Amino acid sequence: MRVLVLNCGSSSVKFAVIDTKTQESISSGLVENIGVDGHVKAKGPEGKIDFNFDCPTHAEAVAEVQKFLGEQKLIDSIEAIGHRVVHGGKYIKSEKVTQEVIDYIRSITLFAPLHEPAHATGMECAMKFFPKLPQVAVFDTAFHQTMPRKAFLYGIPYKFYEQDAIRRYGFHGTSHRFVTGEACKILGKKPEETCLITAHLGNGSSCSAILNGKCADTTMGFTPLDGLIMGTRSGSIDPAILFFISKKYGYDIDRLDKMVNKESGLLGLSGLSNDMRTLSQAASEGNVGAQIAIETFCYKLAREIGGIAMALPRIDALVFTGGIGENSFLVRKTVMENLALLGYQIDDERNMKSGKESGHIISKDGTPTAMVVATNEELLIALDTEAMA
Ligand code: AMP
Repeated sequence: MRVLVLNCGSSSVKFAVIDTKTQESISSGLVENIGVDGHVKAKGPEGKIDFNFDCPTHAEAVAEVQKFLGEQKLIDSIEAIGHRVVHGGKYIKSEKVTQEVIDYIRSITLFAPLHEPAHATGMECAMKFFPKLPQVAVFDTAFHQTMPRKAFLYGIPYKFYEQDAIRRYGFHGTSHRFVTGEACKILGKKPEETCLITAHLGNGSSCSAILNGKCADTTMGFTPLDGLIMGTRSGSIDPAILFFISKKYGYDIDRLDKMVNKESGLLGLSGLSNDMRTLSQAASEGNVGAQIAIETFCYKLAREIGGIAMALPRIDALVFTGGIGENSFLVRKTVMENLALLGYQIDDERNMKSGKESGHIISKDGTPTAMVVATNEELLIALDTEAMA
């Protein structure tokens, strides 16, 4: 089946056409700067486009995608649409898109203020422009809904969970689910008999403990700000730091929000960049800020892995994925050095080959298994869509 995967953000619409049989992406692209000065960049079998156009709302963006797919002679072959949704609230699995689902997504806007209204609007636009196609919503949070209560509760008054559903939800669920399936195939084990730690490391990062194929704990929380140090996000910090900074520097809620979401993490620590490639290069040239950022990123990740490992009886494999996890041999090596207590030892040669030519395994023989698995969230969205459409 050919599935159009749509990822509608607050000011952008990303798309890909995935063939679930060949598991290949036939066409992909991005409409960005919606509401400002729209820009589209896309490629397909018939060629590429890259230009500015008038795009005041998501409707014009989805219309542009439709037009491009028509020009690429793909439109008639698409049989369903799969939407990536950041926050699924109560949903524990992917859902066929109905007005009820759209209304629910809008009703949890407070959980992800930038994303949920855009997802809901994107679904309405897609229904308008592709009225005959079945549509499926695939939620970043759904895979984590198997976490037990002791893992998803925070130590704050219980009434906030009861009244406001404040709890750990976890994100990147589609990626953690995808690499769990792939790692099990590589290990030759059934998911229901496999315990993993999956580390999705990219601009946003999270790691999960997978117990017999299901999520038992994860580092992201009520929002994607929790847990690991990320590109510009702080990850978990002592909440009293916010009170201190607010009192001393007069930061209001919006300013604090900006500080922890946009000015912290690798960028804030290094004072240089949120990009691991830039930091790795700078660190190798002696830049102390870059060295501090990488060292702290890797140690905190190892510390969190040690913490969520307590959800498991054993670890069959530690799985690295995401832009950093798949590409940074420096981060993988440093993290594994920090995990020496658990017995991890990196095989430098395997690690330098990014795991691709070494059967994905990057640990030394006879030591606990660590591996690299490339994630493919779009493919999983397409497969879920095929299964439900
Ligand atoms: P993602 O959000 O999954 O696309 O990951 C983006 C992050 O991956 C950025 O910090 C990139 O610098 C990092 N990244 C991508 N390629 C490499 C590479 N070859 N070495 C180190 N980091 C990389």
